Order: sequence, then C-alpha cells, then structure tokens
Amino acid sequence: MPFAPRGRVELRNGFIVGIFNYCDRWCEACPFTARCRLFADMAEIEASLDPGLKALVEAPPLEPTPPPPPWLEELLQEMDKAIHEPANNQPPERPIPPEHAGIERRARGYCKRAYRWLTALESAASCGPADPRAVISRFHTLIAAKIHRALHGLANDAPEDRDWPPDYDGSAKVALLGIERSHAAWLELVQQGVTSDAHAAPLIADLVWLGEALELVFPNARAFVRPAFDEPDEVSRLLARERRR
Ligand code: SF4
Repeated sequence: MPFAPRGRVELRNGFIVGIFNYCDRWCEACPFTARCRLFADMAEIEASLDPGLKALVEAPPLEPTPPPPPWLEELLQEMDKAIHEPANNQPPERPIPPEHAGIERRARGYCKRAYRWLTALESAASCGPADPRAVISRFHTLIAAKIHRALHGLANDAPEDRDWPPDYDGSAKVALLGIERSHAAWLELVQQGVTSDAHAAPLIADLVWLGEALELVFPNARAFVRPAFDEPDEVSRLLARERRR
C-alpha cells in the first residue's frame, strides 16, 4: 500500500516520509536526495556492487543498534506474514471501465512515438536535466506508468478502506506535471530547431489530449499534496527545527 499523504510533511530518521511515492524519480535533478530513504537505499546498493566502496559499506556501525522494542518486533512479524501469505481473500482486480481505456491507449501510443523519436536521436540519454531532450526522455514512460496506476487505482478504489486522499489522485498529478513539462520541452525543441513543427505536432496533440482527459477523470488531482514537493514552507520549518536541536 502506498504512503498515505495527509498534507503534513514528516521526518523519520532524517528522511521525509513517503517523499518518493509521488516524485518523478529524476534523482539527478531532485533537491531532496539527502532526505529520501529510497535514494539512500539505492546509493547503498550501488555502493555494495562497487568493489571500491565495499569496505565502507561493510564497516560496522559506529554505535551498536539497540534491539527493536517488542511492539515493533510484533508489527514487523505481522507485516512479514502479510507479505508472504497468498492473497486468497483479496477480491480480484477490477479492470478499468471502457470509457477510460482510451486514455491508457493514448498514453502508451505517446510513449511509443516519443521512444521512436528518442532512439533516432541517440544523444538524449547523455543530456542533463535542463535539456528538453532529457525531459522528453524522462517523462515519456513515466506519464504512461502513472496514468496506468491512476486509472487502475480509481477502478479498484474502496473509499471505506481509507481515510486519506486517494493514491490515484497523486499518480494523476505526477502524470499531469510530466505532461506539462514534456509539452514545454517539445515547444523548446522546435524553437531550437532540434525537431520540426510537423514532427512535434502529433506528440504535442497526444499530450494536450491526455492532460484534458486526466483533468476530467481526476478533478481533484491538482489539489493532491505530494509529500515535501508541495509543502516548501513545511519543509523549511521542519529542517530549521531539526537544525536547532
Ligand atoms: S524523492 Fe527525489 S531522490 Fe527520492 S526517488 Fe524521488 S527524485 Fe529520487
């Protein structure tokens, strides 16, 4: 189950709780790497695969870690059991309704068309985050993935089982932001002469269509509060408090 955002940023062990659930996974351009548990875990895994950093990763902690309290031990055991037990009592997943299937198809279509353009270009992978080619490259798959998640989440929503804003709105918001950035990137590429108006026009049309469709299906998506990214004042206050300690 994804993190349940409540519009209040929270620090745990120095990391912002749930920040990576509604980000664009573009760590290279992210201002929160030092506060992201996922980034730290990934960096640790990468370091463990690098023989040069093995000694550092395997070094014993400076202070011995105290054993977890009994309640936490119990909770961890329950979570472990839930993960490993077959989900027999889970209702089968409902498919997305036919009226939403076109959105998913169009998102996949855009993804494929953008991918073809990118592979013909070859150099997009080596561009930095400020380059519009890198923006297209970063978001063409993310838009499709987030739309898929949002539509399936909506189809399978059970409002009585949650008391927090629905995950599908968060996913739709990330897709909408990716659509906006990709749209601007295509316009910039045309302006720079990297691609022609005729080439970019159908891709921009995909993005405009997708944006409008998402706004209709997820009217509350824009109001969804992504941990940290939509709470700059809360983050500043929290970090200032932490520094004072
Ligand atoms: S929150 Fe930032 S650092 Fe963490 S996974 Fe997302 S983009 Fe990467």
